[in-house]
Amino acid sequence: MTDQQSKLITNMRESGLGYTTIASQIGLSKDCVRSYCRTHGLKGIRSPSHVDKEAGSNTCRTCGRYLQHTPGKRKKQYCSDACRMDWWNAHQDKVKRKAYYSFTCAQCGKTFSSYGNAKRVYCSHSCYITARFSHGDK
Ligand SMILES: [Zn+2]
Ligand SMILES: [Zn+2]
Repeated sequence: MTDQQSKLITNMRESGLGYTTIASQIGLSKDCVRSYCRTHGLKGIRSPSHVDKEAGSNTCRTCGRYLQHTPGKRKKQYCSDACRMDWWNAHQDKVKRKAYYSFTCAQCGKTFSSYGNAKRVYCSHSCYITARFSHGDK
């Protein structure tokens, strides 16, 4: 371990980061970080298990940086707009596949896609109306 690395560990530990987060940011193993912290009395503000458990909601999803939440406001998931864009770019396929569904309209036969709704039957409201009233009386 270099002087630079031990300084980083000390700083990050003092700001309440968990071993896992520190280890992944510095590029050392978690055991290495933990034993360094133990031998140097860096216990951190919270217990490590608590910090690690909350890491998902309190750190940026892209870069893992610790987030400052504003009380009363919606919790942030990214430290910056750049990180938000990075995440969306990296996960675009996943996001699209999950939210977009393809259908063939039961009335006009046109292929269309719908965002976030897996139960569409008609491409438009007018197709829905046409189908309902043209078959309804028979
Ligand atoms: Zn970030
Ligand atoms: Zn249609």
